[in-house]
Amino acid sequence: KYILGIETSCDETAVAIVKNGREIISNVVASQIDSHKRFGGVVPEIASRHHVEQITVVLEEAFNEAKVTWDDIDAIAVTEGPGLVGALLIGVNAAKALAFAKNKPLIGVHHIAGHIYANRYQSEFKFPLLALIVSGGHTELVLMKEHGSYELIGETRDDAAGEAYDKVARMLGLPYPGGPHVDKLAAVGEESINFPRAWLEDDSFDFSFSGLKSSVINTIHNAEQRGEEIKKEDIAASFQASVVDVLTTKTRKAAQKYQVKQVIVAGGVAANQGLRKALDEKFADSGIPLLIPPLKLCTDNAAMIAAAGFISYERGLRAGWDLNANPSLILK
Ligand code: ATP
Ligand code: MG
Ligand code: FE
Repeated sequence: KYILGIETSCDETAVAIVKNGREIISNVVASQIDSHKRFGGVVPEIASRHHVEQITVVLEEAFNEAKVTWDDIDAIAVTEGPGLVGALLIGVNAAKALAFAKNKPLIGVHHIAGHIYANRYQSEFKFPLLALIVSGGHTELVLMKEHGSYELIGETRDDAAGEAYDKVARMLGLPYPGGPHVDKLAAVGEESINFPRAWLEDDSFDFSFSGLKSSVINTIHNAEQRGEEIKKEDIAASFQASVVDVLTTKTRKAAQKYQVKQVIVAGGVAANQGLRKALDEKFADSGIPLLIPPLKLCTDNAAMIAAAGFISYERGLRAGWDLNANPSLILK
């Protein structure tokens, strides 16, 4: 079975063709980073316009790369939410138009389910599994007992991990999106500043990064006022140490509590080198297999949407012509 995946929830226009949910035939991503960089973040209006311009180009490229035709496609899966409503609408309307014109079943996919299913290119899922979701808009621990079922056991009470990275990057004068830049600096810095870790209540699997963010701001301001110089590398390394410490510790604790058979990591921040290494170490002696997608599948792409869409397809789930973009769609 061939699934065509479409993703336009934020600033990536992406189309992929995937065989049987686990084999990428083509995976095309047109990033808009350059257009948003000078604004220091994603501008929704600009994102929508770019999606309109890019979607047919990216679609054509996905077919060219895959060397398949419309006859081979069994269903179209599209991100219906969450994300920027104007951006989502471009993908949803493209998918609906194509499904109608080519007479193919239509499947709506939750963007975070997509991030989770990016891991299925590495290995078949073994349930129950624990997913650590760390992206630009989400930081969550999700328990899955079977395909397509998601139980939220913890989430951020304020900023998402990716958001914290991007804000700290901004304070350090690094370009958008800042996560990868902070990651690079952290690799050569020293953990010389002891930033706080928000453990919250003893039994809580929730996260909080706003206190850490404020602490980073204060540290930078205080140093400026005293005319001291702190190395950006050291701030990055110390900030990353705090984020990674909390993420890995809570994930290991939750994995033990729920006796999961697999731990998977999903979302753009899963590309973080410090986090990948720390998770590897944290789970090395746990007896629980850890999956982290290759870098290209951590950030937004359509192969992950097709992978999640394939599972819905197999379960007989179909969207109607009333499928609509839902910017605050809940994962359940
Ligand atoms: P969501 O998936 O929650 O809707 P999104 O789609 O905007 O949000 P993703 O594409 O999953 O987010 O991830 C983008 C985020 O990942 C950005 O905040 C970016 O800074 C962060 N990121 C990417 N690479 C790294 C890295 N190496 N280290 C830290 N953060 C990173
Ligand atoms: Mg993006
Ligand atoms: Fe995403």
